[in-house]
Amino acid sequence: MATRPERAFVALGANIGDPQRQVEAGFAALAALPCTRLLLRSSLYRTAPVGYLNQPDFINAMAGIETTLAPQALLEALLDIERAHGRVREFPNAPRTLDLDIALYGDRLVHAPGLTIPHPRMLERAFVMVPLAEIAPEVEVPGQGRVRELAARLDAAGVAELRRMPA
Ligand code: ADP
Ligand code: MG
Repeated sequence: MATRPERAFVALGANIGDPQRQVEAGFAALAALPCTRLLLRSSLYRTAPVGYLNQPDFINAMAGIETTLAPQALLEALLDIERAHGRVREFPNAPRTLDLDIALYGDRLVHAPGLTIPHPRMLERAFVMVPLAEIAPEVEVPGQGRVRELAARLDAAGVAELRRMPA
């Protein structure tokens, strides 16, 4: 039986090495995933670190994909991409070469060991909600409301859209 594709949103972040290139590589890796199409990509944003403050700024972005990978399989694929980009987990909120998180997967609520969807900290993170609001303002976060309104409540002072320099 064919599985119906679901719309999911993947948050990208990086802050060591060449973060802009790594986030671009993250988009390319998402586009190359099996059973998956990359439909939407936000601008890149430069964001101030949250939690552990003594580290470089991040580049963050959001991807909208359509996939027939189940949530757990999608997470495994994202962790593989992180590993392929040299990710080492040192401590929570530590600097990272590439972080890929499932923000939303359709309107599903997932509470499994190692996987919670919607991503449990997304609603309080402007670096997630601002790029999401750019590409999917009308989308509902299940049980919480619409992305546009949820993002508007946050202090977005630390989140700056990167403008491409004119050639
Ligand atoms: P964070 O992204 O919160 O800074 P990590 O990237 O180190 O932290 O993630 C640690 C673990 O979080 C992953 O190994 C994964 O199992 C788990 N996790 C739980 N929910 C999610 C989700 N929605 N998306 C990605 N990872 C998740
Ligand atoms: Mg992560």
